[in-house]
Amino acid sequence: HVDVYAIPVFRREARVGTLFVHRDITREYELDLMKSELVSTVSHELRTPLSSVLGFTELLLSKTMKPEKQLKYLETIHKEAKRLTELINDFLDLQRMESGTQLYNAEPVNLSETVLSVIDQYKLSGTHHILLEDEALNAEVEVDKDKIIQVLTNLLSNAIKFSPGSNEIKVTLHNERDSVMVRVQDHGLGIPKNQIGQLFQKFRRVDNSASKRIGGTGLGLAICKEIIEKQKGMIGIDSVEGEGTTVWFSLPVLHAESSRHEEEPHKW
Ligand code: ADP
Repeated sequence: HVDVYAIPVFRREARVGTLFVHRDITREYELDLMKSELVSTVSHELRTPLSSVLGFTELLLSKTMKPEKQLKYLETIHKEAKRLTELINDFLDLQRMESGTQLYNAEPVNLSETVLSVIDQYKLSGTHHILLEDEALNAEVEVDKDKIIQVLTNLLSNAIKFSPGSNEIKVTLHNERDSVMVRVQDHGLGIPKNQIGQLFQKFRRVDNSASKRIGGTGLGLAICKEIIEKQKGMIGIDSVEGEGTTVWFSLPVLHAESSRHEEEPHKW
């Protein structure tokens, strides 16, 4: 997208030509488009839980009802209000990241230890058995540790959430050339092939009743992608519907670059 200005050029009061100034406004155009898309998705995503909160509180205020029923309505209100808070927090996170105002630390991080600490957190809550297969012992990467913890937490909570019928989750780490690869594998619902590619976009969720029943904000994977790519990594999904899903990410190993350049130069 280009803006064009025409400026007449004069010499001794006679017009001798026109100067055309072309300005690339692609960025502004894209930003405008993004803003309006954002406003409409956000208002839609906020309206659904809010109208549920309003509806149930009005019901509770207008009628006398059995305590069990009251409790059920209050639980729904609580669940929806929680969802709203998660949505807003995730959304603000993503906004900060996308606008470039999010700062990233770069510190040497032992990925094996970090993965283990996140898995330990989940062991306490204990609905699923999480197995760790670490073939990249003590792999060091230079990343923002808290952000990587956020990615691992998102991937593990998805693996747990979307595998209601199976309790086996496997996390593997191994080296692949200059990077370390982390895989989170579940044997849950899986994802229809034609929807896999869209799930890293904001608010995208698998469009079927099982996935909708489980719920979520649809922002987790978008946040993971943003974090991993900002730290020079890659992220992807392999999945077979009805069989399970593996979400993987890779990050460059610390010192891999420099060690390659440390080879003795040829002497002639
Ligand atoms: P959320 O989980 O909050 O909905 P995400 O962005 O993390 O948001 O995930 C987007 C969607 O991708 C989920 O709603 C779900 O439909 C699908 N998904 C993510 N991880 C898995 C998984 N491990 N198994 C099956 N579906 C998944």
